[in-house]
Amino acid sequence: MTNQINKQLRLIKRPQGMIADSDFSTTHETVDVLGADLTAQQVLVQHLFSGLDPGMRGWMDDMHDSYMPPVELDAVMLSTCISRVIASTHSQWQVGDLIWGLGAWQHYQVYDAEHLAMVTKLPDPAPIPLTAYLSVCGFTGLTAYAGMLEVGKPKDGECVLISGAAGAVGSVAGQLAKLKADCTTVGIAGSQEKCDWLVDTVGFDAVINYRETDDMQAAIKKACPNGVDIFFDNVGGDILDAALMNLNFEARALMCGTISNYNNEVADRAGPKNMWQLLVKNARIEGFTVAHYAAQWEQHRAQLSDWVANDQLVYAEQIVPGLENTLDSFRSLFNGTNTGRVVMQFAESV
Ligand code: NAP
Repeated sequence: MTNQINKQLRLIKRPQGMIADSDFSTTHETVDVLGADLTAQQVLVQHLFSGLDPGMRGWMDDMHDSYMPPVELDAVMLSTCISRVIASTHSQWQVGDLIWGLGAWQHYQVYDAEHLAMVTKLPDPAPIPLTAYLSVCGFTGLTAYAGMLEVGKPKDGECVLISGAAGAVGSVAGQLAKLKADCTTVGIAGSQEKCDWLVDTVGFDAVINYRETDDMQAAIKKACPNGVDIFFDNVGGDILDAALMNLNFEARALMCGTISNYNNEVADRAGPKNMWQLLVKNARIEGFTVAHYAAQWEQHRAQLSDWVANDQLVYAEQIVPGLENTLDSFRSLFNGTNTGRVVMQFAESV
């Protein structure tokens, strides 16, 4: 049989706050998996895995001044995928090739030559587990690398504080700091289980459970008695404010993400009140996007892959089967019930 059903999740409404099931619709299209419908220089892919990023919440908003245009209403929701070519009319892509790149929440997709120019061919067989290209060697690992090593540049003797530390980006960022310098790493996370994992398995020196802490400023001061030299912030809001009050002279605050604000309307977003500390401490805050470092991804990915292959870098993944579970999994990023990088498995067999 050459016809298969392509199940898709389409964004049909701009979410208010946390995404609701009613913001999406499930549609079904018929696809000829032998590629009978392809035109010249196209490939048909089957999406095997898809990584869920908190930042995708911003793609759902009608926000035109971000790093990415909003996903249009009624379009299939975009997402980074690992996919296998199942039909091709493109001279450089063969059936069986594995692709890493921007895909969507659906089972099958046609990539044209323009899109194929922006994706990466993965080695097959891969030297590391395939899903690692969506986690530690994918956008989250590359983000940790760009932020910690290209922007933060940790030095011996420094104290590195990381919010969202048990997450896909934060847990890798902490390890990268220690791989490059003899520094102290302190993580902020939202459960005892995550805090224990950070110390026992990931190698953080100290942790703060922000859900069990009334006074974050004091908790950071206790965990970082000599002050914070690098603050790698995934969260923003009150945690950023508390960290700003603990910065050292010439400290660097790295703005990676502001997840605490992603579900808030712009008017309700908590802004930092303590930016004046940057002046007092001659410190700086610097935002960065992983996309800005695209020219170095190959080099960064190779280094991350080596560390993983040599057991120098640990990472957590939660692989969730079934396109139909994508929305619940996406919500888990915001209520903290996820464990490390959430990867959806869209294909029954890979
Ligand atoms: P993740 O950390 O694996 O998952 C999100 C975690 O954030 C949750 O598990 C939860 O952990 C924590 N969280 C959620 N809401 C929170 C809140 N209100 N206050 C404090 N913590 C909260 O996600 P990730 O993929 O590693 O992404 C981390 C950050 O990096 C996000 O802000 C993301 O947007 C950003 N990012 C930036 C770039 C870039 O180019 N700059 C690229 C990729 C990702 P707890 O249980 O600990 O609360």
